[in-house]
Amino acid sequence: MILLDGKLASASVKENLKKEVDKIIEKNLRPPHLAAILIGNNGASETYVASKIKSCKEVGFTSTLIRYEESVLEKVLLDKILELNNDPTIDGILVQLPLPKHIVETKVIETINPKKDVDGFHPINAGKLVQGLETLIPATPYGVMLMLEHFNVDTKGKHAVIIGRSNIVGRPMSILLSSNLLHGNCTVTLCHSHTPDLIEICKQADILVAALGKPESITAKMVKPGAVIIDVGITRIDDNTKKNGYRLKGDVKFDEVAAIASAITPVPGGVGLMTIAGLLKNTLKAYQLNTKN
Ligand code: NAD
Repeated sequence: MILLDGKLASASVKENLKKEVDKIIEKNLRPPHLAAILIGNNGASETYVASKIKSCKEVGFTSTLIRYEESVLEKVLLDKILELNNDPTIDGILVQLPLPKHIVETKVIETINPKKDVDGFHPINAGKLVQGLETLIPATPYGVMLMLEHFNVDTKGKHAVIIGRSNIVGRPMSILLSSNLLHGNCTVTLCHSHTPDLIEICKQADILVAALGKPESITAKMVKPGAVIIDVGITRIDDNTKKNGYRLKGDVKFDEVAAIASAITPVPGGVGLMTIAGLLKNTLKAYQLNTKN
């Protein structure tokens, strides 16, 4: 069984990005610059944004963190995004989700300049992805593709089953894996909360991507021996024995599934780290788009 280790794969992506940044600096140009907007005090969001900022630093990007109280007016947020859109020194804009209930997520996403949309959520970028055009790809499925590339997982002609159809994970994942790419060309089945016989469908998967957000719901009886397992799920479970009061669980029951899989991502230390790698790659791509005359 191969452990699809996100630490190894993301370190390799970051090393290559650092080399790209070094070349930029050698030419006396400014490095890529990511602006991250964080609203409120959601613990998980704080952690995600902190690691995104830290990773920017590691590869030599500039980053700016903009924080708002939970009660911030939607207009204030949208005006800030417009300001960042018009700032030629900002290449990527990220608004950490989820947003407070009084702010309309689609409005926020659609206000970001698609060329600076490093999360790849803007409908223009989603449309380009569907059509196989060069674009900024949602960071999590992009990270999964980088993981498959790093470990050279053979995907061509395989049956990939994806559980979850969200715009940020499952649906773009289904497009990427079915696309004519080196680590695509799968036959894809996309499952969701209305899929009957989930167990039977999962058992037919050569590659199983779990992105349903139900901790440890994918058990060994749902997995074909030898399958490749990509666990996207991250759920915080209360744990008083931990200093921070919680531990992270994936959607896959790791020990029993790892015993029959050919390869599997751990949680933590798997797809989460690759999401950051995807975001960093997008930021460099956005920089290249924005500094091109
Ligand atoms: P979501 O709630 O938007 O979507 C969940 C999807 O799962 C839905 O499409 C739903 O139809 C499907 N689903 C739910 N229960 C199901 C069931 N019993 N059977 C079949 N399908 C079912 O969630 P999301 O934003 O796509 O995130 C999914 C998980 O991935 C969460 O745990 C989230 O925390 C995690 N996540 C991880 C990363 C990362 O970097 N690793 C990034 C984003 C999301």
